[in-house]
Amino acid sequence: MSDQGSQPDQPDQSLDKAARNLDAYRARYAERTAGMTASEIRALFAVASRPEVVSLAGGMPNLAALPLDSLATEVARLVSEDGQVALQYGSAHGVPELREQICEVMALEGISAHPDDVVVTAGSQMGLDMVTRIFCDPGDVILAEGPSYVGALGSFGAYQAEVVHVAMDDDGLQPEALRQAIDEVGKQGKRIKFLYTIPNFHNPGGITLAVNRRAEILEICRQADILVVEDNPYGLLGFDGKPYPALRSMDPDNVVYLGSFSKTFASGLRVGWVLAPLAIREKLVLTAESATLCPPTLNQMIVSRYLSTHDWQGQIKIFQEQYRERRDAMMAALEQYMPAGCTWTKPEGGFFVWLTVPEGVDTKAMLPRAVTQRVAYVSGTGFYRDGFGSRQMRLSYCYPTPERIREGVRRLANTLSEEMEL
Ligand code: PMP
Repeated sequence: MSDQGSQPDQPDQSLDKAARNLDAYRARYAERTAGMTASEIRALFAVASRPEVVSLAGGMPNLAALPLDSLATEVARLVSEDGQVALQYGSAHGVPELREQICEVMALEGISAHPDDVVVTAGSQMGLDMVTRIFCDPGDVILAEGPSYVGALGSFGAYQAEVVHVAMDDDGLQPEALRQAIDEVGKQGKRIKFLYTIPNFHNPGGITLAVNRRAEILEICRQADILVVEDNPYGLLGFDGKPYPALRSMDPDNVVYLGSFSKTFASGLRVGWVLAPLAIREKLVLTAESATLCPPTLNQMIVSRYLSTHDWQGQIKIFQEQYRERRDAMMAALEQYMPAGCTWTKPEGGFFVWLTVPEGVDTKAMLPRAVTQRVAYVSGTGFYRDGFGSRQMRLSYCYPTPERIREGVRRLANTLSEEMEL
């Protein structure tokens, strides 16, 4: 369901329809399981992880720059000094000291929050699941950018919510398209539960919501009484200086904010958070209790210790530099190799580029041919709930080295050129 890269041992769970019909338990599943389908990304794991394939598919952060030796020392110290707490159950709300530090992290985006309003989660994916669980009955509508994050679409599907996509342009979500979508859903007599948006360095769009549009988007939602769910795992990974002001900083009462340490520190620790108005926060804590009792105490304390003992902002700068170099490598290779008629976004941060290919090419149908030519990507259709995206693909530059990126783009361009000649 998530969009992480290439774990070689991951079983391929992309059961085709025939296999699902053979499932002996089928008649016993809850109806909502119909909305649970394997993402196209997971189906790719097995092939994309072969060493000869350049994977531009996964979204794995590159952790090579982390100071592993000093982290190991800190973790060992944590267990010996504080093991009785670190290895024990904790509260569903999260470790208090970490919640305070999270407020300091969010202050970088202009957010002023109280630690009580932060609920720590096992990654922001869990936050997404909890928010959907709290708000959505089957048939409720969620507005989301088109395209949108595949893991969010997975959660929405699991709760049988309907997704209505709202178009973006180079400046992000289009206010006019948002107004129209709200009108149309209203005419159909359906209820919009929230707008799900990734304003910064969009996954998969590689687009950022222009600062001068932010207030307008918030105002439209406020007028229509629609909550905003702001998902911001990449906000501190911009390549050009100061972070953008969070939507949450501009309308605290109508925005639920999802944050994560997956991209700024370590994704495997699974530590993220939700910042929400008081009433919602109480429901979130209850939801977290019923799902997991509490987020992993040890991992929260590792993050907390890391924030207090390491130069975490310096580390984020190192990540920014590394990803900027890879983004530059991808941009240069796309310019050099892509056949005429292709267009792509130019991300100012984050991990992803969204590529549109000429009419007549179907990126999903082309994928097996690309893999034969030893390059993998994710077809655009996985990022929509409505079948759109067959002329698009997501390319990620976060994990491969610049040389591999260049070679991957070259192979992809060759595959595309051949496809266009067919
Ligand atoms: N939201 C977006 C937009 C993402 O790209 C991701 C991870 N790929 C997540 C949420 C989930 O991140 P986490 O590791 O914090 O669960």
